[in-house]
Formats: sequence, C-alpha cells, structure tokens
Amino acid sequence: MGSMHTGLEDGNKHDRIAAYFAERARGDVGLIITGGYAPNRAGWVKPFAGKLTTRGEAAKHRTVTDAVHAEDGKIAMQILHAGRYAYHPLSVAPSRIRSPITPFTPRELSTAGVEKQIQAFVRCAQLAREAGYDGVEIMGSEGYFINEFLITHTNHRTDKWGGDYSNRMQLPIEIVARTRQAVGDDFIIIYRLSMIDLIPDGNTWDETVALAKAIEGAGATIINTGIGWHEARIPTIATSVPRGAFAWVTKKMKQEVSIPLITSNRINLPATAEQILADGCADMVSLARPMLADAEFVKKAREGRADEINVCIACNQACLDHTFANKVSSCLVNPRACHETELNYVAAETRRRFAVVGSGPAGISTALVLAERGHEVDLYEADSEIGGQLNMAKVVPGKEEFHEMLRYFKRQIELNNVQVHLNTRIGADDLKAKSYDGVIVASGVVPRDPMIEGQDHPMVLSYIDVLKTQTPVGKRVAVIGAGGIGFDVAEFLVQDAPSPTLHLDEWLSEWGVVDPAEERGGVSLNRPPATAPAREVTLLQRKAGKHGANLGKTTGWIHRTTLKMNNVRMIGDVNYERIGDEGLLITYGRNHEHPTWIEVDNIVMCAGQLPLRDLQEPLEAAGISTHVIGGADVATELDAKRAIDQGSRLAARL
Ligand code: NAP
Ligand code: SF4
Repeated sequence: MGSMHTGLEDGNKHDRIAAYFAERARGDVGLIITGGYAPNRAGWVKPFAGKLTTRGEAAKHRTVTDAVHAEDGKIAMQILHAGRYAYHPLSVAPSRIRSPITPFTPRELSTAGVEKQIQAFVRCAQLAREAGYDGVEIMGSEGYFINEFLITHTNHRTDKWGGDYSNRMQLPIEIVARTRQAVGDDFIIIYRLSMIDLIPDGNTWDETVALAKAIEGAGATIINTGIGWHEARIPTIATSVPRGAFAWVTKKMKQEVSIPLITSNRINLPATAEQILADGCADMVSLARPMLADAEFVKKAREGRADEINVCIACNQACLDHTFANKVSSCLVNPRACHETELNYVAAETRRRFAVVGSGPAGISTALVLAERGHEVDLYEADSEIGGQLNMAKVVPGKEEFHEMLRYFKRQIELNNVQVHLNTRIGADDLKAKSYDGVIVASGVVPRDPMIEGQDHPMVLSYIDVLKTQTPVGKRVAVIGAGGIGFDVAEFLVQDAPSPTLHLDEWLSEWGVVDPAEERGGVSLNRPPATAPAREVTLLQRKAGKHGANLGKTTGWIHRTTLKMNNVRMIGDVNYERIGDEGLLITYGRNHEHPTWIEVDNIVMCAGQLPLRDLQEPLEAAGISTHVIGGADVATELDAKRAIDQGSRLAARL
C-alpha cells in the first residue's frame, strides 16, 4: 500500500489512523507505507502537519504500529520533507526559488543548514524505529526537498551540495547512508526515487541510473518509483491516464540495480498488477488509492474474488481534492475510507423492508448498505439498466473506469440479494400498496430548461441525446454550459477515434512523454502535433471567469488542457439571444454587445440540472417514511461522491 496523505497524519489522529491501517492489514496488504511525516518543522507540508521529531510523538505512533502488527501486517513510515512545496513561510530549499504551485518563497539553506536537514532525516528514522515501524520510506521524488537538490532549475548552489550532478546527488546518498548507519541492518529503508521527472530540465536517464546505483550502495533495502514532479503539466494518476502507464519506466531500471524495485501509478486491478509483474517491470507493485477504495483488495484477489473488488476510478474527488481543501480524505466509491471509526455498517436488529427508487449511485449505495445490514430491499429503475448518470459518464473518453464502478455495483447487487426491478417507473400508489417500512427517493435529476428563444429547433440536442442515445452530431457544435457535463460532452465530441486512455502509446505521444533516455525528464520538447479533433467545438458559459472553475482541484487543469489540445473554443461572459437556422446568436456582457452568430450544425444543452422528486409529496402525505437523497435532494453540484456518501450514511442509520 503506497504512501498517501490523508489528512489523518495532521493533528495526530492516531486512533483513526490505526483503525484505517489495521483494516488494510486485515485485508492482507503486504507492506503499508504511511502518509508523509516531516522530519522537522521546516519540512512540514503545511502548518502543523504531521511530523516525527520527539520521543513523545514516537510513543503516540505505537497505537498505529501495534494495531497493524496485531493484524500480522508490516508498516513503514514515510519521511517527507516538503522543501519548496511547503505551504507555510518556514520552508527551506537548496535555493531561494519559489515553486509554481505554492505562494511561499523558501529560505535558501546554508551549508550547515543542509547538514541539519540530514540530521533531521536520520533522527526521524531512528524515532520511527522506536515507534515500532518496520521501516521508513525516504521521499526523494515528486519534486520535494531531496528531489530539488538534483535538478538545476531548483538548485543554484555553489557549495558542495550544488554544481555538477555528482555534487547535487550527494544529499540523498548521505541521507540514506547515515540513516542505515543509525537504524541498523534489520530495518527496511525504501527510497522513493524520481524515475521520470516530467519537467523540461529534469534528470537524464544516466543521472537517474547513477543515483539509483548510489542509493543501493548507500544501503537502501528497496527502491520505489516516483513519477513526475508535482509541478509537471502531465497527468500521472488521473482517471484519463492509462492503467499501469509508467511501469515501463521502472522496467528500464530493473537491469541497473539488484535490490527490489517497486512500481506504481494507476494500478487499480489485480490483473493489471499481475501483468506488470509477469512482464518483469518490477518486483513489487504499490497501490495507494485502490486501498482506500477497498480495504480487502488483496484478500479478494488472493481468494479469486477479484470481481468483488470496489475499484478505484482514479477520480481524486474524495482523496487528493480533499487534501487540497484541507479536509480528511475519503473515497468516492467507499465513504468509510479514513472514517473507519465513525461510519460502520452494523447488522440491523430487525429486518425491515425498504424500496429504493432510482438506481444511480445514490440509490444503489443505499440499497447495498441496507442489504448488507440485513434488510430486504427492492430497487426500482425506470430505465432498462442500472446506473443512472454513470451510464453517460462511462462513454466519455478518459472516463472508462466508470465501467468498473457499474460492474462492482452489479456484482454486489447479486451478492446482497437486492431485488432489482428494471423498466419500472413505480408510482406512489404502488409503493403505498406494498407497505414498505420506508421508501428512499433517489430518482435523480432532469435537465434545466435554459429557455432560449428558438431552442425547439431540430439542431438542438441535450447532453442525454449525445451521451446516452448517441444521436449523430454534426461537425460544428456549440455546447451551452461549461460545467462538469459541458466538459464531458465537449471531450466526447472531439474524440471519435478510440480513447487514448486505452492506448498507452497514443496517450504518451498526446502528452509528449518520451523515454527519459531520449530527452531530459522524459518530456519531448518537439511534441508531435495532436491528431485533429473530430469536431469543431465551442464551449460557452454566461459567467466571465475561467471555464471549468468548479471541476476538481487536481483534475480540472487536465480537462482544460485536453480541450485546448483539441482546439475547443472557450467563450464566456455571453448571453444566449436566439437559435436559428444559422446557429446560435450570442451577445457579450451585461449590455448585450457585439451580437455574433456562432455558425454550427448542432447545439448541445448542458445548462445544469434540477431535482426530480415527484414521489416525495404523495408518499409523505400517505404517512410513509420517506427519504430523499442524491440529485433528487440537491441537484446543484451533485456528483457521485456526494450521492454515494449520502446514500451510504442514510442506510447505515436506518
Ligand atoms: P454544473 O456543473 O452546475 O454546470 C451547469 C452549467 O450550466 C454552468 O456552466 C452554467 O454556467 C450553465 N447554466 C446554468 N444555468 C443556465 C441557464 N439557465 N442557461 C444557460 N446556462 C446555464 O452542472 P452540470 O454540468 O449539469 O453537472 C452536474 C454535476 O455533475 C455538477 O456538480 C458537476 O460538477 C458534476 N459533474 C462532474 C464531472 C467531473 O468531471 N467532476 C463531470 C460531470 C458532471 P453559466 O451560469 O455561467 O452559464
Ligand atoms: Fe480512487 Fe476516487 Fe476513491 Fe480517490 S476518491 S481513492 S481516486 S475512487
């Protein structure tokens, strides 16, 4: 289980961390690596982030290590010094150069100051040993402190820690060697090494190999693979990144060192992990987010129950996006992740009968938790298949993982004996007649009517026509509304060929990723021209700000870049005046200036959604216990994360 910052590290929530990791150890994870702990205050990721600098703190970590060992697990603690990526004014770095992703300029360390940082790493590792950890992972990648010494754009030093690469690489070597000396031989030291920096002046492959060999020589037990600096403008873990997209980089290193290598990034299924090992890419695979999605991932794989695994869809919505919002992580597909001490699905004392109306993520999650707790559940769906809006998401290029979510839901419905009634638009009278103990209204949403003059023109389609009915769409298209669905529709329309997410070479070429032996950092400076977009798309919104401003913090930029790469025109601050044979007439600003016809073959409405909850009133009037959830409850900013969380929590209480 790879390291992942969950926010539980900050503020020392040791009981919650213990419950979270113990559950994963019980699920047969071979080796857990914790989220990052700073070796000193300067190395904090943010103010008061988790750190390990005193024996008192080490004693508190015992709760965690004891809980994991009680489940026969092994656990290593990650030592993370944030360097110039720190989100606080005490940050330090090799040189006084601010990163493009933080507002604070770091203080440049003196030569003696560098020495102090090394001592802090060593002391932190000793304390980790005292705290009962089986090892440490020294975070040397992703553009954090240690990594910053390796690269010239962050290291302008003229002392022994700067200059030639042989000098610049000394810091990690010193840290590993002195840590080994301090902790003894029977303690795991993992070094996380940036194998492909994905920034223009990143390391050459020869430099990376030289470092890996030196790290092995310095006494590391295992080398883990880091992919890309955080400031890199290439996606490395988002859902549109192909599965196992970077295992080939670790494979290149296999012939260079003899200690075990771990590979990581976008490995979310046992079959993918197995293939990577069978292909000789690495000795071990590391999965971080998939362990949030399903604590029993390994156990289910081992027992031949891979089809029961709740698969991480790499959305980042409840994990990384929470971290950036200073919230404790969770998981979109598993709201219990990191909340093991407060959200539990306890067997019901009396078995009761429930009807769930609507089989989108909210309805299915409610049905599954109710059934898991021992209740009898009928799930009604007006459509011919379960899934609601997930069935639209799954056809968007780069969102193929939604197929896995649907597969998981279908399998769990079977296992938990939820009775599904497809093609059934159940009415209040029928529900009354069946005398349920409770009805959960999860009937979803309807598209908002933007009320534009001429909108009944045959060229006008809704997102449902495009994504669900797959109505043919012309070559020139205007998309009205640039929210999550407007972006999805635009991405769907520019891509007629198979999705690059399913074709690694194509994806690598699209983003300009090359063999780091060819170009520094593995980024091509002469990127081949992207394949021509399938359609000419204009994406419109009435707001003046950035398009997609409400998309996920860690993924919005990827969607915007994808649309830009496909020449999508993004126009804001518009008024929709009229639709006619020529296309869409818009004006700009409050004063409706510069009337302009956007000449298109089709216009697709993606103007938001409104709740659909017709059943609520008659059911409540009949005195039936009724609960409205998901989009039927609040349509604004609805997403699967809120739907699943709300449904699961309701079902845990009923
Ligand atoms: P949304 O994100 O709220 O966007 C609605 C869009 O319609 C906005 O761009 C809005 O922009 C426009 N709009 C609102 N009222 C309008 C009106 N009367 N006339 C014309 N335009 C109007 O809603 P959505 O796109 O339907 O998505 C629904 C939910 O699913 C959202 O919460 C979304 O985040 C989520 N979702 C997320 C993703 C993802 O990638 N994370 C993907 C799909 C859906 P203006 O008001 O500026 O015109
Ligand atoms: Fe994976 Fe999304 Fe869950 Fe994060 S929130 S672990 S990316 S499914």
